[in-house]
Amino acid sequence: MGRPRKPSKTPPVTPGVGADWDIPRIAYLYRDSSSPDLEVDSVAGYIHETLGISCTVRGDFLVHHGAGDSESLARRIAATRVRNIMRPFDPMEPAYGEVQFELRLLEEPSKRVPAILYDAYRYTGVMRGLLPSGERSLRVLHIAFEHRILGTFDEDGRYHARAVVCGYPSVVSTSGIVEAPAKPEGYYRVKAQLSVALGAIPFDAAKEPFKGQFIDYDDPRLTEVAKGYALQATVYHITKDAFCDDPRCRLFNAHWQSELMRAQLESGGLCPRHRKIAAEISASARRRPVAARR
Ligand SMILES: [Zn+2]
Repeated sequence: MGRPRKPSKTPPVTPGVGADWDIPRIAYLYRDSSSPDLEVDSVAGYIHETLGISCTVRGDFLVHHGAGDSESLARRIAATRVRNIMRPFDPMEPAYGEVQFELRLLEEPSKRVPAILYDAYRYTGVMRGLLPSGERSLRVLHIAFEHRILGTFDEDGRYHARAVVCGYPSVVSTSGIVEAPAKPEGYYRVKAQLSVALGAIPFDAAKEPFKGQFIDYDDPRLTEVAKGYALQATVYHITKDAFCDDPRCRLFNAHWQSELMRAQLESGGLCPRHRKIAAEISASARRRPVAARR
């Protein structure tokens, strides 16, 4: 394996204090018009208050940046559909109906997509291609709220839906918040029993006994939860490290709805380490002269 490496002369960097942080001059947050209850202005206020970063709220990402050839955009989006959750992504020419379906969604962004999974990296790649060059830089952060469900193919050999995809741009999926973290175990049992009894999947009937124990569509708690996920995307952009091991920290990577609710609603705060990191980010963001923030 070659010669042993010489010991490095560079002094160790204190973890958390980032000389290599990318603090954006501005964060653009994009509305999801299919989630009228989601108050994006309030999320922007939270990011500004917590990290000192200037935030501007815009309309839906695909409407804001996607003007022009919608047929071609619809085709590119349809091509990111996951066709088999048990296999890595296999690029395929989308069918005519799938392109028309995406075209209708682009025309009516307030419609919500039914259970379709899109490959997170390919989908955000399509979004990235729409950004004007002046805004495609680490100095500009983009966080899009979006109703499509994005998934990543993981080491366990299958796709998993994500509540947040930290990338460029980052996406917080309003449907992913509902679908990605697992619901109470009893829910899946009741759903399976009812499916056998009724011969169909009765989502609403299965949800009934567990109401309140998970975030549902049009949930009044969505804005509060979205703040935590937008914070994860922002901290990832700056430090390249989004998640925390402390289950009471808003940066905790929740796999269960109960964990999501504990981190985002019951605690609603940061662990001591992330409080310190947030204060440091905030201090450097606010120290910047006004001209440099533009
Ligand atoms: Zn933390």
